[in-house]
Order: sequence, then structure tokens, then C-alpha cells
Amino acid sequence: MFVRRTEKYVGTRELTPRFAQRNHMTPQQKEGTNNGRCIFSIDVEDWFHILDVPSAPAFSEWTELPSRVEKNFCRLLEIIRASDVRITCFFLGWVAERFPHLVREAQAQGHEIASHGYRHELVYRMTSAQFLEDASKAKKILEDVSCSTVWGYRSSGFSVTRDTPWFFEKLMEAGYRYDSSVFPGPRGHGGIKTTQFAPYRLRDGSNGLIEFPITVAGVLGRPVCFFGGGYLRLFPYWVVKRMAGKVIDEGRPVVFYVHPREIDTSHPRLSMSLARRFKSYVNLSTMEGKIRRLLSDFSFITFQNAVAENYFCLKD
Ligand SMILES: [Zn+2]
Repeated sequence: MFVRRTEKYVGTRELTPRFAQRNHMTPQQKEGTNNGRCIFSIDVEDWFHILDVPSAPAFSEWTELPSRVEKNFCRLLEIIRASDVRITCFFLGWVAERFPHLVREAQAQGHEIASHGYRHELVYRMTSAQFLEDASKAKKILEDVSCSTVWGYRSSGFSVTRDTPWFFEKLMEAGYRYDSSVFPGPRGHGGIKTTQFAPYRLRDGSNGLIEFPITVAGVLGRPVCFFGGGYLRLFPYWVVKRMAGKVIDEGRPVVFYVHPREIDTSHPRLSMSLARRFKSYVNLSTMEGKIRRLLSDFSFITFQNAVAENYFCLKD
């Protein structure tokens, strides 16, 4: 099994999904369709919210730019509605403030409202005080709009690193109950070298916050993501499905993530290096079909319901 418990990262215990006890799986589940539940998430932001490129517009310019998030997010909701799946929507606070009806529409369709911060800043570029202010502001906006409590947080670009040791404590202080920001492998923005790939509960100073790391699969001993953003666009669907099945067989849920701009093949492009251009825009035309197939081939639970139902139990 790829998941090991040797990492000392935050002094946690892994959580074991009930569904993942292979001996308890039905023959249908063992064949790789309708396996144990996964989580599908959208980071709700606009086409210009690309991180760490010099051409990215400053915060003060955002309101002047033509927005595509409304059209693209509504289209995503339509695609998801066809599959009768409930998902988690990590709204950028700025988007929720400008387009509150998007939050209400997602909520009306039974999806979970969660937070992607307010200004889409990289965590490691903020002080702990700035981070607390940004995460708290986004939470308050989302709660005011949705009239419900927001439990979940995801950082921009999965930018929690070893250099932000205050991250989980500040999230707890802001009132969050779970996070999905740790990218357990090398990455352009952030990433944490760890072998702790399954969801876990933090102890000591974080008072029970649950972390759902971005899902990676082991390939030749290295963690590789196939399940969101540029990774999901890059790999053929059969590879994504096979690797998702491998993760589920290892007893972990797969956390999928997409952005509204990724189903919009004609959205404006920012100028950037060839390598970044490839990562940001490769295979946009394949995304809608892949999302439809994922929603049909796997079963899903929201992060919030997984936490509320203690769906991923602590190991004995
Ligand atoms: Zn983002």
C-alpha cells in the first residue's frame, strides 16, 4: 500500500474511509465503477485569477475586466445537475461579493458553499495576520450571502508550505473546520513533501481541524496528481480513471478539482512563458467531457457531509 504513516508532518492519525475496506466492497465496486465515494470540488474564480505570472492583473484592476465566471460556473452547475451529484464549491470571497446569486444558486442545488479566501493571494506571500484577515473576510461574506455556516477552506494554488507553520492554527481561529490545501508533492506554488496522502485530523494547536490533501497516486515511488486542473486536462481520461481506481483501492477518496475557466475554450489568455501557457491552457476542450464521465463513473460526497457523518473514520 502506497500510504505510509512515517511522516511526522503535523502529528496526526490517518482516517480510514469506511468504504475502503476492500473485503467489504461489492463485486461492482471492485470492478472500478461506482467505487467508494470521492469528492468533486470547484474553485470558483475568474479567468484572470492565474497565480504568479507577471501579466496577472492587480486586485485593483479586477472589476474593470470582462468577467466569465458567471457564465462558466452556471454551465458547470448545469453539467453537474445532469448527474445528480452534490459537490463542494470553494468560492473566492471577491467573486461571492460581486456575484452573490452564484452562491445562492449553488446552495439551492444542494451543493456545499466553502471558501477560497478573499483576494486569491498565495499563503506563503502573506503574514499570518494578513492570512487570518483574508480567510476570515471570505468566510463572513460567504456566510452572509448563504445564511449558513462555512466549514471548509482551500488556499489559492495549494500554497500552504513548510514556511507557513501558522496556517492551520489561523484557519481554526477563523472558524473553519476542515481544509483542502495541502498538495503532497512538488509543485510550482507550494507543495509539501509528505507521505501522508489520506485525509487526517490535526491535533495540537489546531483543535481537530481535518485536512483533505489533494489526491496523488504513486507512480514509480513518486506522488503524481491526475485529478484536477492542468493534471486532469493533460492526462487521457482512461489514465485518470485507472489512477482514481488505484487510489480508491488503497482506501482513500479521490479529491477532484476544477475551475470554471477550464470549460471555456475561448476565454481571454494572459501572456506568460511557454511552460506556464501549456500548464494553464492545455486541453481545455477535453475538460467538459472528462467532468461528465467522472460524475457518471464515480460516486460522491461533499467535504462537509463527509466531516458531519464522520465518513472517514479514525483508524483504531
Ligand atoms: Zn484559485
